[in-house]
Amino acid sequence: MSDCLFCKIVAGEIPSTKVYEDAHTYAFADTNPQAPTHVLVVPRQHFSDIADLARDAEASAGYLAGIRGLVEQEQLSDFRTVFNTGAGVGQSVFHVHAHVLAGRPMGWPPG
Ligand code: 5GP
Ligand code: ZN
Repeated sequence: MSDCLFCKIVAGEIPSTKVYEDAHTYAFADTNPQAPTHVLVVPRQHFSDIADLARDAEASAGYLAGIRGLVEQEQLSDFRTVFNTGAGVGQSVFHVHAHVLAGRPMGWPPG
């Protein structure tokens, strides 16, 4: 999508700090980190949110493999994965992204 911030980051048109990439997935540091590790993981292909992505089984599998690849590369054992879906719960960029958060204690439920 031409006007999508994360499509532009995937394309390299907007700079980002790459953490991990593979054929299906790109992962980069969040510019407003909420934990010592705060990585955004996106599929290279545009899907608006997790429900949209879930309609495509092949893309979903590739995307989950990408999250696994990031976690293995970074050797994360304890981490939180957040998908905000909808503006009402804080989604601000409508290209599906997992927030992968780690490196500090996190309570449950989140505040
Ligand atoms: P959401 O609120 O949609 O769940 O998450 C969007 C995230 O994208 C936020 O945590 C925000 O800090 C991050 N973000 C917004 N613009 C940029 C950007 O240009 N570069 C990077 N690396 N992160 C961004
Ligand atoms: Zn996009």
